[in-house]
Amino acid sequence: MAAPSMGGVSLPRGHGQVVRLPRGASLTDLAEKIGAQPAALVTALFHLGEMVTATQSVNDETLQLLGAEIEWDIQVVSPEDEDRELLETFDLTFGDEGDEEDWEARPPVVTVMGHVDHGKTKLLDAIRNTNVVAREAGGITQHIGAYQIVTELEDNERPITFIDTPGHESFTAMRARGAKVTDIVVLVVAADDGVMPQTVEALNHAQAAEVPIVVAVNKIDKEGANPAKIRQQLTEYGLVAEEYGGDTMFVDVSATTRQGIDELLTAILLTADASLDLRANTEQDPQGVVIEGKLDKGRGPVATVLVQRGTLRQGDSIVAGDAYGRVRSLLDEHGNKLKEALPARPVQVVGLTSVPRAGDTFLVVEEDRVARQIADRRQARIRNAQNASMRKRISLEDLDAALKENRQLNLIIKGDNSGTVEALEEALMKIEVSDDISLRVIHRGVGGITKSDIDLALADDVIVLGFNVRAEGQATELANREGVDVRYYSVIYQAIEEIEAALKGMLKPEYEEVALGTAEVREVFRVPRIGNVAGSIVRSGVITRNSKARLVRDGVVVADNLTVESLRRFKDDVTEVRDGYECGIGLGSFNDIKIEDVIETFEMREKPRA
Ligand code: GDP
Repeated sequence: MAAPSMGGVSLPRGHGQVVRLPRGASLTDLAEKIGAQPAALVTALFHLGEMVTATQSVNDETLQLLGAEIEWDIQVVSPEDEDRELLETFDLTFGDEGDEEDWEARPPVVTVMGHVDHGKTKLLDAIRNTNVVAREAGGITQHIGAYQIVTELEDNERPITFIDTPGHESFTAMRARGAKVTDIVVLVVAADDGVMPQTVEALNHAQAAEVPIVVAVNKIDKEGANPAKIRQQLTEYGLVAEEYGGDTMFVDVSATTRQGIDELLTAILLTADASLDLRANTEQDPQGVVIEGKLDKGRGPVATVLVQRGTLRQGDSIVAGDAYGRVRSLLDEHGNKLKEALPARPVQVVGLTSVPRAGDTFLVVEEDRVARQIADRRQARIRNAQNASMRKRISLEDLDAALKENRQLNLIIKGDNSGTVEALEEALMKIEVSDDISLRVIHRGVGGITKSDIDLALADDVIVLGFNVRAEGQATELANREGVDVRYYSVIYQAIEEIEAALKGMLKPEYEEVALGTAEVREVFRVPRIGNVAGSIVRSGVITRNSKARLVRDGVVVADNLTVESLRRFKDDVTEVRDGYECGIGLGSFNDIKIEDVIETFEMREKPRA
């Protein structure tokens, strides 16, 4: 390999050879791969106008730029590809194995989507409660993020799995992370309201993912319900009801009276049977997706996973995202212990060493050691990518630009109780800025800010408001890592003021106090027409004229909000006096000065925004 010099340092030229690097690699990583000195690459990049240290993560474009210069074809490997390669090194693949002929039929996995308040939660509850088997199981149904019911179709018992996550964080998270779990989307549209923005959004997502849709026209018990209008409206979006000659099943339901629930379940199965051939290999090593993860006080990290293929068993060594462990127990939504979980079965897994994220994939591997190694490598990669993460999410400060693009500010509101959350949402909705800027609350809820909230915030650019609540566990870390703007409030009007100010593009700067100096009072002089002057010695920093001051006596602040109105050394007026020197300090009309008092001076400085 020729080694021409560049900027005085020799560099091995690649002559178009390919070198693959993970996203977020440093110049040292590149140097190692192409047999160069890291310093030479730093210099080369410097000549191209980029100042980067050898160990710093470098973004894709900069790597390309450097690559072009030194004639190496630098290919930045996507996280997905990289993960595939990582698994390959352990002789693993994520995906189906074997001959499709031998696979067994599996239940459909359903996600319920639709506009807020159209009844998604209520419908999921109604379905769960109507279920015969659930009633027989007798256990108290717990929320684990997904559940399975069994319904009868043509004398056959047919299970259906529902993803049951409030606000559908997990669907969004999975969408954001490319995991495909949903076979069928149930699009809920309130018959008394009609097609709304999130209805359209949901159906766009479903169509983009090529997932068949069953429309549940909900709230038909309500006065003013107009199910025919819903059918009409949806034809505009390519969803034509069967009764109008299309191929989408529309079912009129009421989540409140439970009317039509059985028909809805039938429609789901018929749609699945007609357009999907759902099969899975139950024999291979089990794999699937994490639906929900949390830290349980008693049981430690707990993850609800959906088995997609294979049969998950107690005792399996599992790796889920960057978490790993041995399956200690498998629990269904009734809290029953399961020995094994077949494809499309959601189960809670206890025994992981940390909490995986919704949308992480899981695999079962031969040995604990392999699980740990994969988890470790993924952790390292996340750290690297994090360092390289140049993407900046929206924050109130760069709202201006964002609004120019979207004309919409998306919010997630979490609070300590539903009353305050509603009150805050209501008040925010009343903010009027201009006609073409809108506020949208895409999710609200009671409780701390969770990882799911942050995931949701990532899928669209969203600002998260916490009212009397804080981010839980890994949520803070994730928010910081991804640059999600999370703001905490305990007074409603403060939140409103800030959002309003932000919308008006005049967010007030934040100030912080910066200490300037302290002086100890040695003597008090009475000066006619001026008042008391503190004969002092400066103990630290500098005392400057016109700076803000407070007076401290025996460790207690006696007076705040004072100003150094006069400052003298001997007979001369001065603007500042440094530590160790004596001076006379006049605090304007404030005269309550005693020997041994301490005068602290400070200024309010604008806080640099993070
Ligand atoms: P989500 O935001 O889509 O999850 O909507 P929810 O399930 O929280 O329902 C929103 C509101 O509509 C709640 O007050 C429900 O009680 C009400 N609701 C939901 N389904 C029905 C229904 O079939 N009939 C009536 N009358 N009200 C319903």
